[in-house]
Amino acid sequence: MTETMLTIEMANTLTDWYRKNKRDLPWRNTGNPYDVWLSEIMLQQTRVEAILPRFIAFRRALPDIAALAACPEDELMKLWEGMGYYSRARNLQKCAVLVRDRYQGTLPADPLELKKLPGIGDYTAGAVAAIAYGLPVPAVDGNVLRVMARLFSIREDIRQPETRSRVSSLIAGLYERHPDLSGSWISDFTQGLMELGALVCIPNGAPLCTSCPLQLFCQANKNHETAVIPFRSKQKSRRVIPMTVLVIRAGDRFVIRRRPSDGLLAGLYEFINLDGHLAPDEVITELERQKIRVLHIRSLPSAKHIFTHREWDMTGYEIMIDPEQTIPENWQAVTEKELKSLPVPSAFDAYMNCYDLRES
Ligand code: SF4
Repeated sequence: MTETMLTIEMANTLTDWYRKNKRDLPWRNTGNPYDVWLSEIMLQQTRVEAILPRFIAFRRALPDIAALAACPEDELMKLWEGMGYYSRARNLQKCAVLVRDRYQGTLPADPLELKKLPGIGDYTAGAVAAIAYGLPVPAVDGNVLRVMARLFSIREDIRQPETRSRVSSLIAGLYERHPDLSGSWISDFTQGLMELGALVCIPNGAPLCTSCPLQLFCQANKNHETAVIPFRSKQKSRRVIPMTVLVIRAGDRFVIRRRPSDGLLAGLYEFINLDGHLAPDEVITELERQKIRVLHIRSLPSAKHIFTHREWDMTGYEIMIDPEQTIPENWQAVTEKELKSLPVPSAFDAYMNCYDLRES
């Protein structure tokens, strides 16, 4: 018979397993909702290993909501550098300002209040409420979706909101039947589902069912369906955008500009770039149109950068210009040290790395 209920026996088994096997991560067991919130925002579409050093550096620089709310924009973007999705960092700050002004600097526990804040959706609200405050609220991320889909042999597309709702209802049902669960149990159970998805019921390749505390309960394991569950429909293909990146050097300075304050990578700094893949003579003509005389041009390696819905396909050139040359108003000639201190998105890593411009 297919199990249709998340039983307390299953949940206790998972919670015990989590308490014995959880990774020691800097945002765990601090008792600070700020840590839970910050880590959850950083972890969206990123692995734990990738954010660990960044979380530590961010937390050291901005130890609380008040510090985050007051942080200058460039400094915030610099701390976020390499994690992509810079709108998340801006929302973090907008959220911190509201929490400072409306909630005396402490994130509210109520998920409905949390969801009114910028950048906080169902999942993050659930995670903060359940993990930081021990409230009986489901928090369904990709890991939880995968574990629950396999556990209950849910074959529907996990991209669909209905599938997420179904998983959420299974967890909510457990809480309704057991209103006496303690806050620390709820916090550990919530993290247990996520941890099992990250360490055992893994996304790529076969899950490690023989090491899984839930193996005896698992429908997908019983029915040999772990290769086909969860089902995830294909994402629309990304739009490929050809562009030409110019590392313009004026003596020992690099010429950059700030991106517009709206849209992709808003407000970050970038090398000058042009639409399409241009040949050297086309680049020279284009720069002459902007009254810039090229002293020397040489090719740099091509590079790609993949965003969620688009891909930059980049051709690169190093351009030498006279240091006395006038440059357009929205361009800036900065020293190597200044460039290293500015937030430049990782999309330009290939060109930053040509000149060792990333701070180690
Ligand atoms: S038994 Fe295997 S498929 Fe089922 S939850 Fe555990 S790891 Fe995932």
